[in-house]
Amino acid sequence: MAVPKSKITKSRRGMRQSHDSLTAENPNECNNCGELKRPHHVCGACGHYADREIIAVAADVDFDEDAA
Ligand SMILES: [Zn+2]
Repeated sequence: MAVPKSKITKSRRGMRQSHDSLTAENPNECNNCGELKRPHHVCGACGHYADREIIAVAADVDFDEDAA
């Protein structure tokens, strides 16, 4: 097993971990439905991007129906 030759000081550990933080999402409002969406991504709620419908969103799917 590889063993560290010397202790990592609090300072060195801190310098490494200074790059570990996560950055917050920066959501935009959808121009079509007003839902918050990721920038440069198709809206998850209505399927629109750049004022065009890209993905047709199904109205309501009934999973309890016994269709075979
Ligand atoms: Zn939308």
